[in-house]
Amino acid sequence: MLPTHVLAGMLLAAPLVQAAPELAPVGFAAGFLGGLFPDLDMYTGHRKTLHYPVYYSLLSLPALLAAVVAPSALTVAVALFLLGAALHSVADMFGGGLELRPWEGNSDRAVYDHHREEWVAPRRGVRYDGAVEDLALSVGLSVPLLVLVDPPLRAVVVGTIAVAVVYTALRRRLAEIAAAVVPLLPEAFDPYLPERYR
Ligand SMILES: [Zn+2]
Repeated sequence: MLPTHVLAGMLLAAPLVQAAPELAPVGFAAGFLGGLFPDLDMYTGHRKTLHYPVYYSLLSLPALLAAVVAPSALTVAVALFLLGAALHSVADMFGGGLELRPWEGNSDRAVYDHHREEWVAPRRGVRYDGAVEDLALSVGLSVPLLVLVDPPLRAVVVGTIAVAVVYTALRRRLAEIAAAVVPLLPEAFDPYLPERYR
């Protein structure tokens, strides 16, 4: 769901086009990065290490207030980054679970809630990342963005959609490739492999 997350993060900055057009590019870029950031934990404690559905959401409230009261590149960037990361972490609940083949629906872990210290179960509104409905969401989010953003951000949106299309086409094959390659790796790699690959 990464393309969907970054596009959703960007779209959070849409009100700036009217409210403070000079700050809109900063907002779009920060929303993109906030939407991206949680998934940097892809290979180390995925959906736990950098996913904070409760805390990003709480932090984004004062940040948003600061951006409204004292709009500047810095306050807008901080607010949109946190909002993007919060939306990503919350949205992961509505996707599939943490497993090599999430379309099988065997995992009860969608995202970790550090506040309650427990895993949130997947609701599977989007069955898995790279499912056709995930791509549909990405495309749907990109339509208003393509109207709202100027170059070079427009190229970022188009590039993100291109990644989403390729990922959707290859998603199931990627899991099979991982399943075939991982057993061939020397045991020494074991501690470094995500749990879902073992
Ligand atoms: Zn995520």
